Amino acid sequence: MTARTHDLAAATTLLLVALVQPPAQLTLATLRAAVLAKQLGGIGPDIGQPTAPLWRNLPEGHVVGKLFGKLLGGHRFVSHSLLGLALFGWLSNLLLHALHPVMLQVALAPVWWAFVLGYLSHLFMDSLTKEGVPWLLPIPYKFGLPPLRRLRLTTGKSAEALLVFPLLVAVDVWLCAHYYDRLLAIVHRTIS
Ligand SMILES: [Zn+2]
Repeated sequence: MTARTHDLAAATTLLLVALVQPPAQLTLATLRAAVLAKQLGGIGPDIGQPTAPLWRNLPEGHVVGKLFGKLLGGHRFVSHSLLGLALFGWLSNLLLHALHPVMLQVALAPVWWAFVLGYLSHLFMDSLTKEGVPWLLPIPYKFGLPPLRRLRLTTGKSAEALLVFPLLVAVDVWLCAHYYDRLLAIVHRTIS
C-alpha cells in the first residue's frame, strides 16, 4: 500500500476506536500528539524501505533507510510482524516518557495507543496485498487476506486508488454520521 493509503487507514482506525471507546478526557495537546503518533505508526513499518516517504523527504534519507532495512532484515520483515510491533511499541513508549517533561499537558496513554493502532492498521492493510505480511515472525510465513494470493491487491495499482482509498473515505463518513453525537461530545470535551 502507498503512504497515502496507510495514512488514511491509520486515521480511520483511530477514529473507529475513539468513537467506539471514547476517551474519558482529551486535551487539544493530547489530540494533536495522538494525530501525529497515528501518522508515525501508520508509516513506521516501512522504516526499512529506502524509498519510503519518510526517507525520501530527508537529505540522504535513502542511506539511513537502507541502514534500517539491513538492521531489520529488509522490507516486510521484522517491522511487518507482531515482533516488530512489540519492538516499536516499546521504543515509542520509551520515547514518549523521555519527552514527557517538555509536554506535560499531553496524556501519554492515548498517544501511545494512537501509535500502536496506526502500526496495526499498516500491517492489516499490507496483508491485503499480494506480498502478504510475516505476522508471526520468526515463523517465516507471509499471511494475506484473502488467503488466495491472486485475489489480493497490488501496491500502487488502480484498485488501491479507485477501490481501497474511496472505501476508507466512505467508512470515515459513515463513522462520523453514525456516531455523530459521540463525535460532538468528544469535540466539546476537547475544546472546553
Ligand atoms: Zn508496509
